[in-house]
Amino acid sequence: MIPFLDLKGINAQYRDALIQAATNVIDSGWYIQGSELHAFEREFSDYCGTRHCVGVANGLDALTLTLRAWKTLGKLKEGDEVIVPANTYIASILAITENQLKPVLVEPDAATYNLCPIKATTAITPKTRAIVAVHLYGQLAPMPEIMALADQHQLLVLEDSAQAHGAEINGKKAGNWGHASGFSFYPGKNLGALGDAGAVTTNNEELARTIRALGNYGSHKKYENLYQGVNSRLDEMQAALLRVKLKHLDAETARRKEIALAYAKGIHNPVIQQPIAAENTPETLGSHVFHLYVVRTEEREALQAHLGAAGVQTLIHYPIPPHQQQAYRNWNKEHHPLTETIHKQVLSLPISPVMSNEQVNAVIEACNAFRIK
Ligand SMILES: *Cc1c(COP(=O)(O)O)cnc(C)c1O
Repeated sequence: MIPFLDLKGINAQYRDALIQAATNVIDSGWYIQGSELHAFEREFSDYCGTRHCVGVANGLDALTLTLRAWKTLGKLKEGDEVIVPANTYIASILAITENQLKPVLVEPDAATYNLCPIKATTAITPKTRAIVAVHLYGQLAPMPEIMALADQHQLLVLEDSAQAHGAEINGKKAGNWGHASGFSFYPGKNLGALGDAGAVTTNNEELARTIRALGNYGSHKKYENLYQGVNSRLDEMQAALLRVKLKHLDAETARRKEIALAYAKGIHNPVIQQPIAAENTPETLGSHVFHLYVVRTEEREALQAHLGAAGVQTLIHYPIPPHQQQAYRNWNKEHHPLTETIHKQVLSLPISPVMSNEQVNAVIEACNAFRIK
C-alpha cells in the first residue's frame, strides 16, 4: 500500500538528530519555556520574515488566542462579524465562535478553493471587523487583494497558515501577510512536531506580548496576572524537535512540488480534475507548498475504491462542510452550493516528501487506469 502520508518515513530521515535533540532536552532539566522555545521562536519568525513568533500548544489555540488578544486589546468585541471561507477546516471557525464572534461563511474561489476577494467584498456589512484568510491545501489565499480589501474597510486579517508553511507570493511568506497568522505543527502538517504544537507570527509587538500572556495564565510576569488566561504553551521537547525539522522544510517542500508536478503532467483522465496545470514549473509554484494534492471528480467513491484496490491510500479533505456539522446545527439550513459540491467531489492523493518516483508513477498509472463503470 502507498500510504497517504508516510509520517514514520518522514521522521526516520532525521532520526539521529531528533534523538540528539530529545536527549539534550532530557538532560537539561528544563522542560517548559526555556532556550529551545526561544530559539525556535526566533528561527521560525526569521523563516517567515516576521518580527515576532509566539509558541502555543496547537494550531487551534494559535487562532483562538489571536482573536482573543484582539478582543483584550479592544480591537474586536463580542458579536463582531468575521469573514471566513465556508469550505475551511472546522478549526478556523471554532476559533471564531469560541470568542463569541460571528463567522460569516463565504463561498471559495472554484479553482483554488481559497477565499475569493469578490465574494468576500459582498459579505462585508457595517459589523464586519475581521477576515480569517485560510491558505487551504498549502496554497496562499490571494493576500495582496485581501490586504487591499482589509485596508479599504479597516478590517483585521488573521491568516490560517496551518497548511501553508513556507508558501509565498512575491517573496513574502505565509505568516507575514496578515496582521497575525496562526500555524499548526500537528505531526501531519508540512512542518510537523512529534506531538501537538502551534505558533502565532506577527509584526505587532503589543499583540505578541498579549498572546504570550494569555497563553501563560494571563501572566506577563511570574505570579502576576493581568488577564484570566489559559495554559497553551509550546514545550521544550517539541520546540527542540521542530528546530531539527525546520532546517529541512524547504527541501521537503521542493520534493512535494516535484511530486505535484509529476501528477499534473502524468494524470490524463478526463474524469479527474487537477488542482494545477501541467505547464507549471517549480518556479511558478511558489504560492503552493502542497500540504495536500486535491483532485476533484463526480465519481469520487468509485475513484477512491479503484485507487484503494490498486494499493493507493487516499483521504477526503473534508467530507462534511462546517455549516452541515452537528456542532453548528443552527447553520444546517444554510446553503453554500459550491462548498457542498466541493465536499462531495474532492479526493486527496498521497504526497509524502519521502515517496519514491516508483510510488509516484504507480499513483499516476492507477489514476489513468480509472474508468467509469
Ligand atoms: C490543522 C489545522 C488547524 C488546527 O491545527 P491543530 O494544531 O490541529 O489545532 C487549523 N486550521 C487548519 C486549516 C488546519 O489544517
